[in-house]
Amino acid sequence: MTLLLEVQDLSVTYGSFKALNGASLRVEKGEIHGLIGPNGSGKTTMLNVVCGFARARAGSIAFADARIERLPVHRRAAMGLGRTFQGIAVFSELSVMENVLVGLHLRDSQSFFRSCIPFLGQAAELENQQRALAALKWAGLEGSTAVPAGTLSFGGQRMLDLARAMVATPSLLLLDEPAAGLNPNEVAQLAAIVREFRARGSTVVVVEHHLKFVMGLCDRITVLNFGQTIAADTPDKVQKNPAVIEAYLGP
Ligand code: ADP
Repeated sequence: MTLLLEVQDLSVTYGSFKALNGASLRVEKGEIHGLIGPNGSGKTTMLNVVCGFARARAGSIAFADARIERLPVHRRAAMGLGRTFQGIAVFSELSVMENVLVGLHLRDSQSFFRSCIPFLGQAAELENQQRALAALKWAGLEGSTAVPAGTLSFGGQRMLDLARAMVATPSLLLLDEPAAGLNPNEVAQLAAIVREFRARGSTVVVVEHHLKFVMGLCDRITVLNFGQTIAADTPDKVQKNPAVIEAYLGP
């Protein structure tokens, strides 16, 4: 297996508080990797630092064999790093289709320049629409392309958020609590979408509180506690790890 992401000895401080304190994360190409830990253990901070939304005080991040910890967010996105955020983050006044097209323009700066040249622009727009429609089909939203995103159900908006992240075909997609607030049918649909995404050659890191979902979906899991990595293993082994059990149940 090839390592796609290698985070080593990462430290992030807010004032005197250490949100990450020497944490590590190793993600193999093609796997679905879970990132779990009690509330406040540093999971979202880890995603933020990998994407470039937060800066580390110390440590290194290698993505596809390149050191990225000093690169700005947009350079990391252009290299194939994509993410979703906690909660709902759709543009409610825009149509479902427009929301997904936003995801394409964020990744592909060339499409902006091509769109300025009339004939090339039309061809590019058609191609973008086709890609957006394919992403909406994965997310089960092909019947709602023209409606304002704000009129979708909570679960529908979450699927739209996923479609928008997926349309840019990131080689590594980071999902922050994608199952939060979803009903059991939607959780099953989410798992199918993530698996399909992997089947198309992408790698996924998923931060999630819904442990049953993580255990059933992920190939390997990294566990954070108090800003440190306390385990990195298969779901079976992680569930039996005494340090993990203690972190969740307390002393
Ligand atoms: P998790 O995702 O595991 O719940 P977070 O990464 O969100 O944990 O947060 C880790 C710790 O860092 C928490 O105690 C949180 O309150 C703190 N923290 C996160 N972001 C900030 C910030 N911008 N300023 C101050 N403290 C923060």
